[in-house]
Amino acid sequence: MAKTPANLHCSFCGRSRDEVKILIAGQDGHICENCVEHAREIIEQEFSSKQDATTPQGSQFKLKIRKPIEIKKFLDEYVIGQDEAKKVLSVAVYNHYKRVNTKAVATDEVEIEKSNIIMVGETGTGKTLLAKTIARLLNVPFAIVDATVFTEAGYVGEDVESMLTRLLQNCNYDVAAAEKGIVYVDELDKIARKGDNPSITRDVSGEGVQQGLLKMLEGTEVLVPPQGGRKHPEQKMVKVDTKNILFICGGAFDGIDKVIARRVNTNAIGFSVNKDEQEYQRKNLLQFVNAQDLKSFGLIPELLGRLPVITHLNPLDQETLRNILTEPKNSLIRQFNRLFEMEGIQLEIDDEVLDFMVSKALEYKLGARGLRSICESILTDAMFELPGTAARHLHITLPYAQQMFSKSKLSALKVA
Ligand code: ADP
Repeated sequence: MAKTPANLHCSFCGRSRDEVKILIAGQDGHICENCVEHAREIIEQEFSSKQDATTPQGSQFKLKIRKPIEIKKFLDEYVIGQDEAKKVLSVAVYNHYKRVNTKAVATDEVEIEKSNIIMVGETGTGKTLLAKTIARLLNVPFAIVDATVFTEAGYVGEDVESMLTRLLQNCNYDVAAAEKGIVYVDELDKIARKGDNPSITRDVSGEGVQQGLLKMLEGTEVLVPPQGGRKHPEQKMVKVDTKNILFICGGAFDGIDKVIARRVNTNAIGFSVNKDEQEYQRKNLLQFVNAQDLKSFGLIPELLGRLPVITHLNPLDQETLRNILTEPKNSLIRQFNRLFEMEGIQLEIDDEVLDFMVSKALEYKLGARGLRSICESILTDAMFELPGTAARHLHITLPYAQQMFSKSKLSALKVA
C-alpha cells in the first residue's frame, strides 16, 4: 500500500484523507473504503442481472447441475437397489447437462451428442421413479408420457408433439425451463414394429410413431399446441426447441430375454463360468441387453441411434421389496406413520407384518406398486375409525394384518 499524506483524496468520490478510514493507492490515484464497497455492490448487481437473462425472471426452475456421484447418492435415498441403472443414469444425465451448459457446442470441433436413455425392466421396478427423482434433484421440468397414446400424425390418437404440451403445462408454460426439461416416455416397447414386413399394412401406432419421435429426440424446433390435442385449432402455437430436452424412455420389453438368450448363446458369453453363475445369468439376462436386441424386438435403428444409452433394471426380489417398504426417505411405512402422527397416534407395525406384506405382494404378483394397496387394505379400517377418538397408539400384529387382508378385495384376486 502506498503512503497517504494528508493532501491525498479518493479519486472516485473526492473525499480527502481525513474524511475516510483508508485510501488504497492505484497507479494514478486512490480509492476509499466507501467506494470499494460501492463498487462491490455494482459488480454483484451486474452479475445477478446477467444470470437472470439466461433464466427467465421469477422462474422456479433454476437448473442445479450435480456430479454423477451426488446424483447417485440422491437416487439411493429414494430408490432401492438398481445400482447399475443408477450409475448409468447419473453419468448420462450429468453429461447431458454439461453439454447443455457448454455454449460452444455447435462451433466446437468435438460435438457432444445428446445422451437420451432407454431403460429396460419389468413394470414396477422403478423406471419412472428414477426419472422423476432425477428431475426433482436437478430442479428441471418433468413430464411422463405414455407411448401407447401416440399415433402417426393424421390418425386418431395423439401426435408426438403432445408430450411437449405436457411438459409446458407442468412448468407453467416457462418455455426456457421446458427446453431444459426431462421427458419420460413410458411403454416404448409398445410402439415396436409389429411384424418384420412393415410394408403390408400401415403401422400407424408402431413404426409410424417411432419415425415421428426421431426428430424430436435428436433436437428440433417444434410448434406445440399449448392446450394440447387437435380440439383447439385456434390456439396459438408455442415454439419449443428440443435440442436440450433429455428423453428417458422405459419399457418392459416382454420376451426380450429370449432374444438376448439367443444372442448370448450364439456368442457363448458367460458360459465358461460355474453352474450357479450360469443360473444367475440365465435369470438376469436383461443385464446383457443391447441395441441389437432392441432392434430385433422391433425398434427401428434410427430411433436406437438417438437413444444411445441403454440400461436395465433388475426384477424386485423379496429383500428389495422389504427394503422398499421401509428404507426410502418417503417409504410407504414412513408415510403411514406420518398420517397417524398427524392424528396424534403412534403407529407400531411388527416386523412379521412387513414380511407378510412382502409375501402377499410376491404371491399376487403385485410388485412394488402392490405394496401400497396391501398397506391400505390392512390400515384402512383403523384410518377410518381412530380419528377423533382417544386412541394414542396403534399396534399392528400379524393376526390383525392377516384378518384385515383377508377381508379386503385384494385377497379375492386370483393368484396367477
Ligand atoms: P416402472 O416405471 O418401472 O413401471 P415405477 O417407477 O412406476 O415402475 O414404480 C412403481 C412404484 O413402485 C413406485 O412409485 C415406487 O413406490 C415403487 N418402487 C418400484 N421400484 C422401486 C425401487 N427400486 N425402490 C423404491 N421404490 C420402488
